[in-house]
Amino acid sequence: MPNLGFDIGGTNLRVLRLNEDGSSSALQQQEHPNEPEAIISVVVKLARTFIKETTKTIETIGVGCAGHVLPTGVIKSSPNLPNFINLPLKQILEEEIQTQVIVENDANCSAWAEHQIGAGVGIENLLVASFGTGIGAGLILGGSIFRGSYGLAGEVGHMTLEENGRPCPCGNYGCWEQYSSGAELSNLIAKNNTKAVPYERTLTEFGEKVAIGFRNLSHILDPEMIILTGGITSIGDPLLKAIQQAYFRKVGHRDNGKLTQIKLGMFGNEAGALGAALIASAQEKIQ
Ligand SMILES: [Zn+2]
Repeated sequence: MPNLGFDIGGTNLRVLRLNEDGSSSALQQQEHPNEPEAIISVVVKLARTFIKETTKTIETIGVGCAGHVLPTGVIKSSPNLPNFINLPLKQILEEEIQTQVIVENDANCSAWAEHQIGAGVGIENLLVASFGTGIGAGLILGGSIFRGSYGLAGEVGHMTLEENGRPCPCGNYGCWEQYSSGAELSNLIAKNNTKAVPYERTLTEFGEKVAIGFRNLSHILDPEMIILTGGITSIGDPLLKAIQQAYFRKVGHRDNGKLTQIKLGMFGNEAGALGAALIASAQEKIQ
Protein backbone atom coordinates (compact mmCIF):
# COMPACT_ATOMS: atom_id res chain seq x y z
CA MET A 1 0.00 0.00 0.00
CA PRO A 2 1.21 3.56 -0.60
CA ASN A 3 1.78 5.73 2.48
CA LEU A 4 1.73 9.44 3.16
CA GLY A 5 4.45 11.11 5.20
CA PHE A 6 4.05 14.55 6.77
CA ASP A 7 6.79 16.57 8.44
CA ILE A 8 5.73 19.41 10.75
CA GLY A 9 8.86 21.40 11.55
CA GLY A 10 9.31 24.69 13.36
CA THR A 11 8.70 26.71 10.18
CA ASN A 12 7.59 24.42 7.35
CA LEU A 13 5.03 21.75 6.66
CA ARG A 14 6.08 19.09 4.14
CA VAL A 15 4.37 16.08 2.65
CA LEU A 16 5.00 13.33 0.12
CA ARG A 17 3.51 10.00 -0.91
CA LEU A 18 5.70 6.89 -0.76
CA ASN A 19 4.64 4.33 -3.34
CA GLU A 20 4.83 0.55 -3.01
CA ASP A 21 7.74 0.37 -5.47
CA GLY A 22 9.81 2.70 -3.24
CA SER A 23 9.37 5.75 -5.46
CA SER A 24 7.85 8.88 -3.99
CA SER A 25 5.89 11.89 -5.19
CA ALA A 26 7.60 15.29 -5.35
CA LEU A 27 7.88 16.89 -1.91
CA GLN A 28 5.25 19.57 -1.28
CA GLN A 29 6.39 22.26 1.11
CA GLN A 30 4.83 25.37 2.58
CA GLU A 31 5.46 27.69 5.49
CA HIS A 32 2.91 27.20 8.24
CA PRO A 33 1.35 29.81 10.55
CA ASN A 34 2.59 28.07 13.74
CA GLU A 35 -0.96 27.69 15.09
CA PRO A 36 -2.14 24.14 15.86
CA GLU A 37 -5.64 24.56 14.38
CA ALA A 38 -4.38 26.10 11.15
CA ILE A 39 -1.63 23.47 10.77
CA ILE A 40 -4.06 20.61 11.41
CA SER A 41 -6.52 21.96 8.86
CA VAL A 42 -3.77 22.11 6.20
CA VAL A 43 -2.64 18.55 7.03
CA VAL A 44 -6.24 17.30 6.79
CA LYS A 45 -6.81 19.08 3.49
CA LEU A 46 -3.59 17.75 1.94
CA ALA A 47 -4.26 14.21 3.21
CA ARG A 48 -7.77 14.22 1.74
CA THR A 49 -6.45 15.46 -1.60
CA PHE A 50 -3.79 12.72 -1.72
CA ILE A 51 -6.31 10.05 -0.72
CA LYS A 52 -8.66 11.21 -3.50
CA GLU A 53 -5.91 11.35 -6.13
CA THR A 54 -4.28 8.01 -5.28
CA THR A 55 -5.74 4.99 -7.05
CA LYS A 56 -4.71 2.55 -4.30
CA THR A 57 -5.97 2.85 -0.73
CA ILE A 58 -3.82 4.77 1.72
CA GLU A 59 -4.24 2.92 5.01
CA THR A 60 -1.62 4.56 7.21
CA ILE A 61 -0.27 8.09 7.41
CA GLY A 62 2.99 8.93 9.16
CA VAL A 63 3.40 12.34 10.77
CA GLY A 64 6.76 13.59 11.98
CA CYS A 65 6.46 16.50 14.38
CA ALA A 66 9.06 18.65 16.11
CA GLY A 67 8.96 18.36 19.88
CA HIS A 68 8.23 15.92 22.69
CA VAL A 69 6.03 13.22 21.17
CA LEU A 70 4.43 10.73 23.56
CA PRO A 71 3.81 7.11 22.50
CA THR A 72 0.08 7.94 22.44
CA GLY A 73 0.62 10.43 19.60
CA VAL A 74 0.19 13.44 21.89
CA ILE A 75 2.58 16.36 21.43
CA LYS A 76 3.42 17.25 25.03
CA SER A 77 5.40 20.37 24.17
CA SER A 78 7.54 21.73 21.35
CA PRO A 79 9.99 24.64 21.75
CA ASN A 80 9.72 25.64 18.08
CA LEU A 81 5.92 25.07 17.94
CA PRO A 82 5.08 26.90 21.17
CA ASN A 83 1.31 26.40 20.94
CA PHE A 84 1.59 22.64 20.68
CA ILE A 85 0.91 21.80 24.32
CA ASN A 86 -0.64 18.44 25.23
CA LEU A 87 -2.03 18.31 21.70
CA PRO A 88 -3.62 14.91 20.85
CA LEU A 89 -2.43 15.12 17.25
CA LYS A 90 -2.91 11.43 16.37
CA GLN A 91 -6.47 11.36 17.70
CA ILE A 92 -7.51 14.60 16.01
CA LEU A 93 -6.08 13.57 12.63
CA GLU A 94 -7.55 10.05 12.77
CA GLU A 95 -11.01 11.48 13.49
CA GLU A 96 -10.74 14.04 10.71
CA ILE A 97 -9.18 11.83 8.02
CA GLN A 98 -10.64 8.46 9.08
CA THR A 99 -7.28 6.77 8.48
CA GLN A 100 -4.70 5.31 10.88
CA VAL A 101 -2.07 7.91 11.83
CA ILE A 102 1.36 7.27 13.40
CA VAL A 103 2.96 10.29 15.07
CA GLU A 104 6.72 10.28 15.67
CA ASN A 105 9.34 12.90 16.50
CA ASP A 106 10.49 14.56 13.27
CA ALA A 107 14.20 13.95 13.87
CA ASN A 108 13.53 10.26 14.52
CA CYS A 109 11.74 10.13 11.16
CA SER A 110 14.74 11.66 9.37
CA ALA A 111 17.08 9.21 11.07
CA TRP A 112 14.90 6.28 10.08
CA ALA A 113 14.90 7.37 6.42
CA GLU A 114 18.70 7.58 6.33
CA HIS A 115 19.04 4.26 8.18
CA GLN A 116 16.57 2.39 5.97
CA ILE A 117 17.30 3.68 2.49
CA GLY A 118 19.86 6.50 2.76
CA ALA A 119 23.45 7.22 3.73
CA GLY A 120 23.29 5.08 6.89
CA VAL A 121 22.07 1.74 5.55
CA GLY A 122 23.63 -1.12 7.56
CA ILE A 123 24.96 1.21 10.29
CA GLU A 124 23.94 -0.09 13.73
CA ASN A 125 24.89 2.96 15.81
CA LEU A 126 24.02 6.11 13.96
CA LEU A 127 23.31 9.73 14.88
CA VAL A 128 21.33 11.75 12.34
CA ALA A 129 21.32 15.46 13.14
CA SER A 130 18.69 17.58 11.38
CA PHE A 131 19.54 21.24 10.94
CA GLY A 132 16.45 23.40 10.47
CA THR A 133 14.81 26.04 12.69
CA GLY A 134 16.56 24.17 15.53
CA ILE A 135 18.71 21.03 15.71
CA GLY A 136 17.08 17.72 16.45
CA ALA A 137 18.75 14.35 16.33
CA GLY A 138 17.48 10.88 15.75
CA LEU A 139 19.47 8.11 17.38
CA ILE A 140 19.63 4.66 15.90
CA LEU A 141 21.26 2.44 18.52
CA GLY A 142 21.63 -1.27 17.92
CA GLY A 143 19.62 -0.83 14.72
CA SER A 144 16.50 0.63 16.41
CA ILE A 145 15.23 4.15 17.12
CA PHE A 146 16.30 5.09 20.66
CA ARG A 147 13.65 7.31 22.28
CA GLY A 148 14.98 7.39 25.86
CA SER A 149 12.98 6.88 29.05
CA TYR A 150 10.49 9.68 28.42
CA GLY A 151 10.60 10.11 24.65
CA LEU A 152 13.10 12.96 24.93
CA ALA A 153 16.31 11.36 23.67
CA GLY A 154 18.08 13.18 20.88
CA GLU A 155 17.13 16.74 21.89
CA VAL A 156 20.72 17.60 21.13
CA GLY A 157 19.98 21.18 20.07
CA HIS A 158 19.41 22.05 23.72
CA MET A 159 22.83 20.99 24.96
CA THR A 160 24.35 24.01 26.68
CA LEU A 161 27.19 25.52 24.67
CA GLU A 162 27.45 28.86 26.51
CA GLU A 163 26.33 29.02 30.12
CA ASN A 164 24.98 32.56 29.88
CA GLY A 165 24.55 32.61 26.13
CA ARG A 166 21.70 33.47 23.81
CA PRO A 167 18.14 32.80 25.02
CA CYS A 168 16.42 29.76 23.50
CA PRO A 169 12.66 29.11 23.09
CA CYS A 170 13.13 26.10 25.44
CA GLY A 171 13.63 28.55 28.32
CA ASN A 172 17.37 27.97 28.73
CA TYR A 173 20.37 30.02 27.58
CA GLY A 174 23.25 29.22 25.29
CA CYS A 175 21.75 26.11 23.66
CA TRP A 176 23.76 24.59 20.79
CA GLU A 177 20.99 25.29 18.27
CA GLN A 178 21.20 29.03 18.98
CA TYR A 179 24.66 28.93 17.31
CA SER A 180 24.49 26.09 14.83
CA SER A 181 20.98 25.60 13.39
CA GLY A 182 20.10 25.98 9.72
CA ALA A 183 18.38 29.27 10.60
CA GLU A 184 21.55 30.45 12.34
CA LEU A 185 23.66 29.65 9.28
CA SER A 186 21.36 31.86 7.18
CA ASN A 187 21.76 34.67 9.75
CA LEU A 188 25.53 34.24 9.78
CA ILE A 189 25.77 34.32 5.97
CA ALA A 190 23.68 37.52 5.87
CA LYS A 191 25.70 39.16 8.67
CA ASN A 192 29.09 38.21 7.23
CA ASN A 193 28.02 39.32 3.72
CA THR A 194 27.55 42.87 4.94
CA LYS A 195 31.10 42.75 6.35
CA ALA A 196 32.44 41.25 3.11
CA VAL A 197 33.63 38.12 4.94
CA PRO A 198 34.45 35.41 2.35
CA TYR A 199 31.84 32.64 2.16
CA GLU A 200 34.44 29.99 2.92
CA ARG A 201 35.32 31.69 6.20
CA THR A 202 31.65 31.85 7.15
CA LEU A 203 31.40 28.09 6.64
CA THR A 204 34.56 27.57 8.72
CA GLU A 205 33.07 29.68 11.54
CA PHE A 206 29.81 27.74 11.37
CA GLY A 207 31.61 24.39 11.10
CA GLU A 208 33.47 25.08 14.37
CA LYS A 209 30.19 25.46 16.27
CA VAL A 210 28.68 22.35 14.70
CA ALA A 211 31.82 20.35 15.49
CA ILE A 212 31.69 21.21 19.21
CA GLY A 213 28.30 19.53 19.45
CA PHE A 214 29.36 16.54 17.35
CA ARG A 215 32.45 15.96 19.50
CA ASN A 216 30.38 16.08 22.69
CA LEU A 217 27.95 13.58 21.20
CA SER A 218 30.77 11.29 20.04
CA HIS A 219 32.20 11.20 23.57
CA ILE A 220 28.84 10.03 24.89
CA LEU A 221 27.58 7.74 22.14
CA ASP A 222 30.63 6.55 20.20
CA PRO A 223 28.62 6.32 16.97
CA GLU A 224 29.92 4.64 13.85
CA MET A 225 28.52 7.46 11.76
CA ILE A 226 27.07 10.95 12.13
CA ILE A 227 24.83 12.14 9.30
CA LEU A 228 23.82 15.74 8.70
CA THR A 229 20.43 16.32 7.20
CA GLY A 230 18.03 19.20 6.58
CA GLY A 231 18.05 22.09 4.12
CA ILE A 232 21.66 23.06 4.86
CA THR A 233 22.93 19.90 3.19
CA SER A 234 22.20 21.56 -0.18
CA ILE A 235 25.48 23.48 0.38
CA GLY A 236 27.16 20.09 -0.02
CA ASP A 237 30.88 19.33 0.24
CA PRO A 238 32.18 22.78 1.29
CA LEU A 239 29.97 22.60 4.40
CA LEU A 240 30.83 18.95 5.10
CA LYS A 241 34.56 19.64 4.82
CA ALA A 242 34.36 22.65 7.17
CA ILE A 243 32.63 20.50 9.80
CA GLN A 244 34.93 17.48 9.33
CA GLN A 245 38.08 19.61 9.61
CA ALA A 246 36.86 21.32 12.77
CA TYR A 247 35.71 18.02 14.29
CA PHE A 248 38.87 16.04 13.68
CA ARG A 249 41.22 18.89 14.65
CA LYS A 250 40.12 18.73 18.29
CA VAL A 251 38.87 15.21 18.77
CA GLY A 252 41.86 14.55 21.03
CA HIS A 253 42.81 11.15 22.31
CA ARG A 254 39.70 9.40 21.05
CA ASP A 255 40.81 6.92 18.42
CA ASN A 256 37.21 5.83 18.05
CA GLY A 257 36.23 9.50 17.58
CA LYS A 258 38.65 9.62 14.68
CA LEU A 259 36.94 6.58 13.22
CA THR A 260 33.48 8.12 13.35
CA GLN A 261 32.43 8.97 9.82
CA ILE A 262 30.66 12.29 9.21
CA LYS A 263 28.50 12.28 6.10
CA LEU A 264 25.76 14.25 4.39
CA GLY A 265 22.33 12.65 4.34
CA MET A 266 20.78 11.69 1.03
CA PHE A 267 17.40 13.33 1.46
CA GLY A 268 17.87 16.91 2.73
CA ASN A 269 14.47 18.53 3.25
CA GLU A 270 12.66 15.31 2.30
CA ALA A 271 14.13 13.18 5.10
CA GLY A 272 11.43 13.85 7.72
CA ALA A 273 8.43 13.24 5.44
CA LEU A 274 10.07 10.22 3.83
CA GLY A 275 10.93 8.71 7.22
CA ALA A 276 7.37 9.30 8.46
CA ALA A 277 6.01 7.43 5.43
CA LEU A 278 8.53 4.60 5.95
CA ILE A 279 7.50 4.29 9.62
CA ALA A 280 3.83 4.16 8.54
CA SER A 281 4.70 1.45 6.01
CA ALA A 282 6.64 -0.59 8.63
CA GLN A 283 3.66 -0.31 11.02
CA GLU A 284 1.36 -1.84 8.37
CA LYS A 285 3.72 -4.79 7.96
CA ILE A 286 3.67 -5.50 11.73
CA GLN A 287 -0.13 -5.58 11.78
ZN1 LIG B 1 17.18 25.33 24.10
